[in-house]
Amino acid sequence: MEQSPYPSGTVRNLLNTRQVTPKTKEVLQQRLEATNPFSKPSFFDEAAFAILQAVATQLISQVEVEPIALALALDERLTKGTGDGWRYNTMPPDSRAHQLGLQGLEESAKLLFSRGFIFLTETEQDAVLQAVQQGKAPGTIWETLPSKRYFEELLVELTEVYYSQPLAQETIGYVGMADAQGWQAIGLNQLEHWEPQRLTDAVIDAVEIEADTKQPSSSTDPQKQVTPPIVTSYSLDSPVDAVVIGTGAGGAPLLARLAQAGLSVVALEAGEFWNPAQDFATDERSQSKLFWTDERLSAGEDPIAFGNNNSGIGVGGSTLHYTAYVPRPQPDDFHLHRDFGVGVDWAISYEDLKPYYEEVERVLGVSGPSPYLWEPDRTPYPLPPLPLNGAAQLMERGCQALGIQTSPAANAALSAPYFQPGVGWRSTCTNRGFCQAGCSVGAKASMDVTFIPLALEHGAEVRSNCFVTRLETDANGRISAVVYVQKGQEKRQPCRSLFLCAGAIESPRLLLLNNLANSSGQIGRNFMAHPGVQVWGQFPEEVRPYKGIPGGLISEDTHRPRDADFAGGYLLQSIGVMPVTYASQLTRGLGLWGDRLRSHMFGYNHTAGINILGECLPYKHNYLELSNEKDDRGLPKPRIHFTNGENERRMTIHAEALMRQIWSAAGAESLWTFSRNAHTIGTCRMGTDPTQAVVDPDGRSFDVPNLYIMDNSIFPSALSVNPALTLMALSLRVADRFLQQAQLGEV
Ligand SMILES: Cc1cc2nc3c(=O)[nH]c(=O)nc-3n(C[C@H](O)[C@H](O)[C@H](O)COP(=O)(O)OP(=O)(O)OC[C@H]3O[C@@H](n4cnc5c(N)ncnc54)[C@H](O)[C@@H]3O)c2cc1C
Ligand code: SF4
Repeated sequence: MEQSPYPSGTVRNLLNTRQVTPKTKEVLQQRLEATNPFSKPSFFDEAAFAILQAVATQLISQVEVEPIALALALDERLTKGTGDGWRYNTMPPDSRAHQLGLQGLEESAKLLFSRGFIFLTETEQDAVLQAVQQGKAPGTIWETLPSKRYFEELLVELTEVYYSQPLAQETIGYVGMADAQGWQAIGLNQLEHWEPQRLTDAVIDAVEIEADTKQPSSSTDPQKQVTPPIVTSYSLDSPVDAVVIGTGAGGAPLLARLAQAGLSVVALEAGEFWNPAQDFATDERSQSKLFWTDERLSAGEDPIAFGNNNSGIGVGGSTLHYTAYVPRPQPDDFHLHRDFGVGVDWAISYEDLKPYYEEVERVLGVSGPSPYLWEPDRTPYPLPPLPLNGAAQLMERGCQALGIQTSPAANAALSAPYFQPGVGWRSTCTNRGFCQAGCSVGAKASMDVTFIPLALEHGAEVRSNCFVTRLETDANGRISAVVYVQKGQEKRQPCRSLFLCAGAIESPRLLLLNNLANSSGQIGRNFMAHPGVQVWGQFPEEVRPYKGIPGGLISEDTHRPRDADFAGGYLLQSIGVMPVTYASQLTRGLGLWGDRLRSHMFGYNHTAGINILGECLPYKHNYLELSNEKDDRGLPKPRIHFTNGENERRMTIHAEALMRQIWSAAGAESLWTFSRNAHTIGTCRMGTDPTQAVVDPDGRSFDVPNLYIMDNSIFPSALSVNPALTLMALSLRVADRFLQQAQLGEV
């Protein structure tokens, strides 16, 4: 495979063109200018910092670029006290871990070579680092600090910092930041007319010419803008009909429905209300503002990565950075126990949700094939499918060779301009591939550009930057008010009903903190996370995995595999990937560093992935609890225990073998596997038995009559599909059931 670095200067030139949006330019230029390698550390003392610098030099091979101050970036982050939203339960708090880790490296260096780490030769330093990575380093520090985990966290962070640098991105041929016009040439071996070829001076000229000739982005077309919100403001002195906590896929649809029915509704959202066109840059690092980064403790044998991998913050919740795959479950997904004798059945069926699926697909403007291969009589999707990118084309090729049926995926991104009453026009997807870090053109149907404008249009109030801490009850045990903190000020909103939609971690956490709705003892129980193993291949063809919607192709042939030795099944989905995410997974998954990492990353533009989305059974050993450790607000951090069961393990083995066959048939030159579980599900189970479930099939608490829960927490089983579409459909159904009960005076 050929390497594809760009000529030095390509990215700086691009930043001067209109191929880069103003926000992206601002963020990247700041990063290029920000780090002064001669600044003094403020978190570490000079001795520790010198060790860190030496370690960074060994781990990240910076041959092609002016040295990037990696150690300083870590020092700055620790000084600010920010984090990425989770840590292994076996690790001490971040700042302590880094202090101890450097002491441990020094101790190991002295025990192995009788000299401090910075005085060792490069070969000796490598030997110490390898021993630490393998958990074999000598020293007392490692008796309290798990050395493998420490090494993993340090390596991942330094790698993420390095590959976030535009100049490092240039070395691997990434120019995804130049997406203001979007991409038309997204297939295998395809380049835009202006895109750098490789290492020729002519390329730089071409890029410079572009600066003078290109028109600004079409996203300024007024017809394609989302309707500006109508602002309603309710008083804190009198009760509103309903408060909705959280504005993600669980909260936003019901917020719109209740407002459309004429109710006074207020949504309280912990995060910002962004203006994507102005606030979102094509830059993974700066877009981490969309992730929930309050720390969660991750325990069990397969600890779950939170943060960017799992939950969002801001008006729109996780949909701000979801991939927007919106497959429907198949009808038998709802009765796994009936079919296999394991897991649990849902108290509602596919048929109950079908009209809601159709409605949600209409509101979102889903692009997908009609007829749909695995349900030909499905109501046609509103828009035709989006074009296939390189990864999707390769997966199609591999599957064809093996006789596996595939189809373009149903995707909540627009293949044509789309008008929705109450929302306005939204623009076509420009194939910029950045769905998992925020869509700046409004083509991806996140809640902030679909159900939220609809809710605002009908008089709902959305209060951003409001973190809910307390739920007050009256003498009858009904919720009477919600207490929240906005800009450091505590406020109280009285309400007649409450819809808790804070996601499968924060919803149970709030209920446990408030000691509410838990007569079943089931709050926090039955935590599930879809098996989501990925197989990555590198191919002779140029894939450019940053182009096109990341989720392009699907196969449901594995929904119930005939040769399975497990219950349920899985979907196969093609995946594109941004460079920082890819490098981060590579270091976490394979532990590559130094020259091996550098040379693997040279193949970035030849990389394509497939992942699965598989059924996960509920188990007693997987649960959420409140830990003794407090967060900045003084509230206990949640601890989540997760270990895959035998069913998930067998499914993962089956899927990995199949994905490897597909990639081999497609011509992959090398393969590697990244094990993971995706999505946070369960913890406030829906059911009919009040001793086994937290809410009834209408999402209503068995204990607190005016409390409804509506997010991923109420799923009784995980379903073998991505959850967001079902979540939105369920949200509309919960709202309708509530409105019917309210009419009958039963709320
Ligand atoms: C990277 C990524 C890719 C994904 N891709 C897909 C995909 O392709 N297809 C798919 O179907 N699903 C996908 N998902 C999953 C999907 O996005 C989630 O399952 C779904 O959006 C969860 O919605 P929710 O309403 O349950 O929770 P959330 O989206 O987490 O919403 C909860 C909201 O509540 C707010 N909140 C929490 N606590 C408080 C509090 N105390 N006070 C006030 N507000 C609070 C949060 O800020 C947040 O906005 C993806 C998720 C991620 C992270
Ligand atoms: S939907 Fe995704 S690929 Fe399309 S423009 Fe938005 S971020 Fe880019």
